[in-house]
Amino acid sequence: MMLNTDIVNHDILSRFSRLLKSGRMAHAYLFAGPQGIGKSETALSIAKLLNCQQVAAGQQTEACEQCSACLRISSGNYPDIHVLDCGDAESIKIAQIRELIARLQMRAFEGTIKICIIKDIENMTAESSNALLKTLEEPSKDTLMILTTSVPEENLPTVVSRCHLIKFLSGSVPAVRQQLMEQMRLDAAVAQCLAQFSQGSVSKAKDLYEKKFVEYKNQVIDNLILQESSDPYLKKILSDKSQLQVALTVLLSWFRDLLILKSGGGQKHLVHPDRYDELLTLEKKYSFENVDGIIEEVVRALALLGENLNIKIPFILLREKIWARL
Ligand SMILES: [Zn+2]
Repeated sequence: MMLNTDIVNHDILSRFSRLLKSGRMAHAYLFAGPQGIGKSETALSIAKLLNCQQVAAGQQTEACEQCSACLRISSGNYPDIHVLDCGDAESIKIAQIRELIARLQMRAFEGTIKICIIKDIENMTAESSNALLKTLEEPSKDTLMILTTSVPEENLPTVVSRCHLIKFLSGSVPAVRQQLMEQMRLDAAVAQCLAQFSQGSVSKAKDLYEKKFVEYKNQVIDNLILQESSDPYLKKILSDKSQLQVALTVLLSWFRDLLILKSGGGQKHLVHPDRYDELLTLEKKYSFENVDGIIEEVVRALALLGENLNIKIPFILLREKIWARL
């Protein structure tokens, strides 16, 4: 397993370091927070902390990343660490949970503790969740369970209540922007756009970058806002729900940018600073009411789309509103 150490949450990691020292670590934790914020990466770092030979020898308080334990954990080859997720399947099946429980009943091979990380537990079937309950309730002493979820409310309360909740909060947009500029040498405007769209998640921002999101959103702007969209483009967008959703989100952010400019807000709050000149030109072509009206239509279209209703007509109306500029 690739470990993206950039997004390990160091505050939470040092909290575990203190718990380890004081011998007050609980047996089950639930890491809750947005996708891509580093929950499972932090869980693996905790696994290293508990197994690192340097830490065990009292040489240091943080995992060394170099001893054989650290290296094998990084490469996913450590027998006392079990990581479970649904992979390509839709859910975590009961057979996976049963196998995990069987493994946890064995003694630790190398270290003194067995660690199990179950990722995105909202993907567990009800059967799987129920099968896990007893283990969560009466774990063997040498077991640490770390579960992760991005939607705590979608899990069985009986599972959630048996874990200590640790919340992962989003990073700030400026911090993510800075990180993207330093680590990936991205242009400030592009970094800001990605930081905004990822809502402060570095890994999500990097993922968006790799998927050429900036080019994609600029196509949406070119085709739906700046020039009168061609029928083939409209047809393409309207025929694919997920593309349509992204396109509407781009429209929403664009018109919010116009609202910011119209209210005298600065460039640093914009989602599309890479298109600053065009935003400035368009800002003069819409009244406040126009922009408000468009935003209202986009929000309505997104809601309809969420309910799987046909939004062809609202979308055409929206396009007309966008074109009714001065
Ligand atoms: Zn180590």
